[in-house]
Formats: sequence, C-alpha cells, structure tokens
Amino acid sequence: MKRTAVITGSTSGIGLAIATALARDGADVVLNGFGPADEIAAIIERLKGFGNGVIYHGADMTKPAEIADLVATASRTFGSVDVLVNNAGIQHVEKIEDFPIEKWDQIIAINLSSSFHTMRAAIPLMKEKKKGRIINVASAHGLVASPFKSAYVAAKHGIMGLTKTAALELAEFGITVNSICPGYVLTPLVEKQIPDTARTRGISEEQVKQDVMLKFQPTKDFVSVEEVAATALFLASDSARQITGTHISIDGGWTAQ
Ligand code: NAD
Repeated sequence: MKRTAVITGSTSGIGLAIATALARDGADVVLNGFGPADEIAAIIERLKGFGNGVIYHGADMTKPAEIADLVATASRTFGSVDVLVNNAGIQHVEKIEDFPIEKWDQIIAINLSSSFHTMRAAIPLMKEKKKGRIINVASAHGLVASPFKSAYVAAKHGIMGLTKTAALELAEFGITVNSICPGYVLTPLVEKQIPDTARTRGISEEQVKQDVMLKFQPTKDFVSVEEVAATALFLASDSARQITGTHISIDGGWTAQ
C-alpha cells in the first residue's frame, strides 16, 4: 500500500536521511525545513529518483497555522498522512542565568510544541484509516541531562511524555507513537554546537568532540544519520505494530551508564 510520510526538518541531517529512507522504501514524501532554494530543489529531484511523489512545504515549526497547513497540504496532495516524523530541532548552549529568553521559547516551540501541532492535525487523518505511525526524534537528552542545555533537555524530556500520552490515546486505532533517542550524530546541528561548547567550557574544539561529546558515548564513535533512519524505517513498518509508547536508544551505550 502506498504511504505518505511527512518529515519535519528534513532539509538536513537526520530528517533528510529519514526522508530518503522512506522515499527509497516507496513512500510519497513531504519535505519541510529551511535552506537555500537550490539545495532544496536538488533534494526534491534526488528523492523523486526513487519513483514516488515528493513535495516541499516551508512551514516554520514555531507557527501553529503553518504547521496545520503542512499536514493539510500533505493530505490534499497525496490523500493521506500515514507516517509522521517529528524531527525538526535546534539547540542553544548556555548557562541558565545567561540563557536568552527568546531562545528558550524558540527551542520549546520547535523541539516540543511543533510535535503537538503536527499530531493534532494528523491524528484525525490517521484515525480515519485506522492506521498510522508517529515517530518523534527525541534524543539521549530525553532520558538524561547535560549542563548548559536547559531548554533542549526540557523539550526532549517533554517529547518523551507526549509520546507516551499519544500512544495511550491512539493504541486502539492502529496508530503507534514512539521516540528515537540518538546519542551524538555528526550533523550540522552538532557541528554548530562545537564552537559554543568550546567557548562556554574554555577548551579546544577537538577537546569538545573527544572529551565532552564522545566522553558519554562508550563506543567512542558518532552515530550515523543512516543508522537513525534505519530505526525510523523499522518503527514505520508493519512489524513494529505492537511497539508503542516507548523509545529506542541509538546512543552507543550512553544511557546505560
Ligand atoms: P540539523 O540542523 O541537521 O537539521 C535540523 C532540521 O530542522 C533542518 O532541516 C532545519 O531546517 C529544520 N528546522 C530548524 N528550525 C526549523 C523551524 N523553525 N521550522 C522548520 N524546520 C526547522 O539537525 P539534526 O542533528 O539532523 O537534528 C534533527 C533532530 O535530531 C533534532 O530534533 C535533534 O534534536 C535530534 N537529535 C540530534 C542529535 C545529533 O547529535 N545530531 C542527537 C539526538 C537528537
């Protein structure tokens, strides 16, 4: 059966890898996220190469009306929303007392509230079909904390609660809701944090990679975006129909400590 997948924040990093995996698997894909128009056009062309429908919607994940339009556009274009991947996210690294208020609000909006808004719009469509998959890209920071990441850790812990609540509400409708909790994946989001963390901690950028980031990842290796995408593809599959309200960690052992 042809499926439609909406992936927020899929112009880069993990979201792009998940969109690519779903397109390769045969889904029509709705891309979202920011980036230069020519880069987005190139992504659309590349994913169309798998032979399925691909559209882009530029909804800003801080704007509920735009988020509702993203889901409505997906449904209008392809006839359904079968897989919803809430992936868009940003980070800011700062002590709580210096943390800019507008950054706190922005991170809570993008990393947490946007998933409420996408789900609010997509759930009625999934309920109609008595089938659906909602996959929230949380983080190891949905399970444990790190200093200087108050908004991110709060939002990611929040998404874990939202995942469980939605799973219980939707269990009888053939709709599963789960989180994926990656450790450090070397994407633009992480690369951007390296200079900030170096400045906040007064250490070199190489020390940030080895002593701060991979310090907590016992495998001493970054997770790849393809590994996260493979887990999303599994959670979106029929085989995962009894997996709901939980999370899968892909963190090289980080949260086993
Ligand atoms: P990334 O910066 O490569 O991609 C983030 C995506 O979100 C981009 O497409 C960007 O355009 C989009 N985005 C940002 N603000 C947006 C907004 N207001 N509206 C719409 N789209 C917006 O980052 P990534 O590392 O691929 O992160 C993806 C997700 O994975 C995030 O939720 C992040 O918290 C989570 N995560 C990342 C890591 C990691 O180590 N990279 C680890 C755990 C969890």
